[in-house]
Amino acid sequence: MSSNMITLALSKGRIFDETLPLLAAAGIEVLEDPEKSRKLILPTNQPNVRVVLVRATDVPTYVQYGGADLGVTGKDTLIEHGGQGLYQPLDLQIAKCRVSVAVRSDFDYERAVKQGSRLKVATKYTSIARDFFATKGVHVDMVKLYGSMELAPLTGLADAIVDLVSTGNTLKANHLVEVERIMDISSYLVVNQAALKLKQAPLRRIIDAFASAIPAEKN
Ligand code: AMP
Repeated sequence: MSSNMITLALSKGRIFDETLPLLAAAGIEVLEDPEKSRKLILPTNQPNVRVVLVRATDVPTYVQYGGADLGVTGKDTLIEHGGQGLYQPLDLQIAKCRVSVAVRSDFDYERAVKQGSRLKVATKYTSIARDFFATKGVHVDMVKLYGSMELAPLTGLADAIVDLVSTGNTLKANHLVEVERIMDISSYLVVNQAALKLKQAPLRRIIDAFASAIPAEKN
């Protein structure tokens, strides 16, 4: 690989789709559709820029260790990763959602919290959940899950979940109610700190173009 190659790590879905207009502002066009291709490395119209497709939770890891020079990742994923080795120049204001606590509609969350009983919490976001309940002074037993958190309160695995909520439709469909909003989430540009020194000019050009194309604040 030539040393002037710029590698951008993205995850498929909302982050990929919402990053495309930002790339366009930098004059970068991805030449293959990740939903149609099985390729993990996608070329762009710029010979020295390529996109690698990785799991959302792996984006900070790829950028931290230089497998990619830069990437786009949700604040939730960034907090759980810890952010070591990552320069975080921009809140891109895309893929917005929130991290919330949800319970079964027949579970009395307020009472459980007031009584000081131990709360069984299932989540993929153990750092965020631990910090939140520690600040509230609520004792929790944490159950780490990797997906389908909504199922946990329905099967008795947990009293509550901590999960991403956007429209709230997924919670509603599973008879769960949002009882606390922990934090608002959006996606960030992250850059490998060493790459920023070695490939300063091309990376700065991309960062500046992204900055100029960030969608206006809307909720
Ligand atoms: P919703 O039904 O619109 O509230 O969306 C909730 C579901 O979509 C949950 O399973 C979340 O994990 C997922 N979700 C919502 N927003 C995002 C986002 N910005 N990034 C990744 N997953 C999300």
